[in-house]
Amino acid sequence: MLSRRNFIKGVAGVGLSAPLALNANDNLGKDIKFDEIADVIIIGSGVSAHICAAYLVKNKIDVLMIEKMDRIGGNSVLSQQDFAVLNSDLQIKAGIKDSEELFLNDLNKAGAGYNHLEHSLRIIRNSNEAYEFAKSCGVKYADKLKFLGGHSVARSVETIGGGGACISTLNEFFIKHNGKIKNETKCDEIIQDESGKIIGVSVRENYRFNRNLANDDRENLSGDKKHYKARLAVVFATGGFSRDIEFRSIVNPRLRLAKSPSSLGQTAGALKQMLKVGAIPTQLALSRFSFGIPTEDLIYGIMVDCNAKRFLNEDGDRQGLSNKILAHMEKINTTIYPIIIFDSIGFANSHDPNRMQSFITAGKMKKFDSLSDLANNFKLNENDLSKTMQDYETGISNNKDEFKKDLSKIKNSSMSKAPFYAMTAAPGLSYTPGGVYADINMRVLNISNYEPIKGLYAIGEATGGVHGQSRLTSCSIPDCMTSGIACAKDILKGV
Ligand SMILES: Cc1cc2nc3c(=O)[nH]c(=O)nc-3n(C[C@H](O)[C@H](O)[C@H](O)COP(=O)(O)OP(=O)(O)OC[C@H]3O[C@@H](n4cnc5c(N)ncnc54)[C@H](O)[C@@H]3O)c2cc1C
Repeated sequence: MLSRRNFIKGVAGVGLSAPLALNANDNLGKDIKFDEIADVIIIGSGVSAHICAAYLVKNKIDVLMIEKMDRIGGNSVLSQQDFAVLNSDLQIKAGIKDSEELFLNDLNKAGAGYNHLEHSLRIIRNSNEAYEFAKSCGVKYADKLKFLGGHSVARSVETIGGGGACISTLNEFFIKHNGKIKNETKCDEIIQDESGKIIGVSVRENYRFNRNLANDDRENLSGDKKHYKARLAVVFATGGFSRDIEFRSIVNPRLRLAKSPSSLGQTAGALKQMLKVGAIPTQLALSRFSFGIPTEDLIYGIMVDCNAKRFLNEDGDRQGLSNKILAHMEKINTTIYPIIIFDSIGFANSHDPNRMQSFITAGKMKKFDSLSDLANNFKLNENDLSKTMQDYETGISNNKDEFKKDLSKIKNSSMSKAPFYAMTAAPGLSYTPGGVYADINMRVLNISNYEPIKGLYAIGEATGGVHGQSRLTSCSIPDCMTSGIACAKDILKGV
């Protein structure tokens, strides 16, 4: 066992550079002098952290939340926070017939059967309780339901003000109920006692995340070492790892070239800490992509690579298209994302031309009066681009597309009527479905015996196996909310 002196030496400059040894955490806390003590320490400050914290402080539990970044909220503040809820007040008011079976079927379809049933049921059965609890904390929802892709009925509520408003409201509630929060405080390591129970964490206060480092977790040595003790539990609400290019390229080389719209702090450091004390890594190779544009509109245009050539059928879902794009970029050895091009007819055929117009206003999509302007802007060979467009039009006339696109679906779209509209089609890794495996009470299980690691919980995007192959739209928020509440309830059982 490490003496206190050696222990301090061991964590100095830890930056997770220590070798990863499953179930072999040296961090046994017998001789440690703790700088802070709380009933529950929550790592992370997104929606899963905040809902769990709100539930605990409402029940008079002393909670310390820590966040490594200089501002709170992680990916949760970037999100619209569309939230799928079964049998919400809005569904009942609108007379929408929904059921557990229908919702489960939708989750299974998106998850392609890779998703764990018990977690799907946890989300479905507890979504309304979580929604009502969030409302009781002051979170506001619009008085209308969204009927989102992949759902059989309208069941998603819309958070007024999106993730930013949700987090600031929950944070106010947390602080009002005596919750404590420390920003720029990074959890580096989990502390166990001799029985293996988790009793606290070692952290660095005044931690300054450095976006210029290739890998902040391994290279950043900033901050002052401290040790925090948790009387009841440590909860990892540390989100995904979509910004960790190094790690995601190891678990799935296809993810190397993906962009990510996620917050900069989405790295794999916290996941590695849990693995180090024996957590089970689950479905780390899976991915969920987003596009800057609704994928159902791509069919009205053509996608070309940096050689101005088409390479796929534009009719597809975001996962399928993203995988094809990334595979093609690997094949032609480029880091340049393809371009999606519409002519004026294809643009007008889109499901929501006003939304397309908003992409232009936001500068994401550009309008060009001539093909030449478009080619110049994206550094494409004009002659090659022109030939690609002509070939596509010839295909339309012959009702035979080179990439087997079902041309009966494109209405009267063409590829010759100026003005043209174009934008980069970059698959954005916005969510990582993999993480550590937890039971339905969100206790992290030990890889050596599949029993809970005492005192350790994981919630929200930090967990894996919940959504399977592709997470259904608007289902991370009910996952984060229901897992946060399930975790809080389990902690309260032990009080
Ligand atoms: C642009 C965008 C839009 C989205 N829209 C939706 C939507 O409409 N509906 C939906 O269901 N889902 C949506 N999602 C997904 C959803 O928002 C996220 O999955 C969810 O917010 C994750 O919440 P979380 O609490 O698990 O993690 P996060 O909100 O990511 O919080 C994790 C926090 O932990 C911190 N952290 C990590 N490691 C440490 C450490 N070692 N020490 C201290 N702190 C640490 C991070 O800095 C971060 O702040 C969207 C995602 C994006 C990117």
